[in-house]
Amino acid sequence: MGLAEYKRKRNFVKTAEPKGGKPRPKAVKGASRFVIQKHDARRLHYDFRLEMDGVLKSWAVPKGLPWKQGEKHLAVEVEDHPVEYGTFEGIIPEGQYGGGTVMLWDRGTYYVYGEQPLKSLREGRLHLVLDGEKAKGEWALICIRSNEEKNQWLLLKAGASLKPISKKRDDESVKTGRTMKQIAEARDAEWESGRKDEDSSVRSTLKRRVQAALKKKTRVKKTL
Ligand code: MN
Repeated sequence: MGLAEYKRKRNFVKTAEPKGGKPRPKAVKGASRFVIQKHDARRLHYDFRLEMDGVLKSWAVPKGLPWKQGEKHLAVEVEDHPVEYGTFEGIIPEGQYGGGTVMLWDRGTYYVYGEQPLKSLREGRLHLVLDGEKAKGEWALICIRSNEEKNQWLLLKAGASLKPISKKRDDESVKTGRTMKQIAEARDAEWESGRKDEDSSVRSTLKRRVQAALKKKTRVKKTL
């Protein structure tokens, strides 16, 4: 898929989400990373992402991970995300694509049964072992409907049942320990709040120019 769709959907002047350069080759052979981001957008969902082929293959899972053996949750395939997205937590501004609060809900490594994860992905059947901070165990992703718009998959609990995650832990970031509410209130990764720093750096640049111009008795260039 590549990152063209990811970039097309976002205005990076307005969102602090990573821009994403070229797809990155996998850093460590054998160990691939996964992340799950809890995303309070128009509808609360969990974004399940597997690092594969230099990008994060991504699914939106409204109900999050199933814990009981055989339980299935709908997972809608979405555009590939850049690998850097895997550490993103913060706020996507209102009115921007996916506007809302993002929590880094889980991260870790995963393993796919069978030799070729990409081939399994294309065939629509991934049997996964997740080794995350919250999710540890077997799950499977099975493609149930393919069309040009959106591929629909099921995220299925394979292997043994697990104890469902507690409410408290479900609302706790693995990156910062914060709740969704705390992330929403902090507004630290939002572009709008980042602008303050930019304003002050613009001010200090202008100040320096004024001082330099005074020394040389020249005019100040007021635009940057
Ligand atoms: Mn999302």
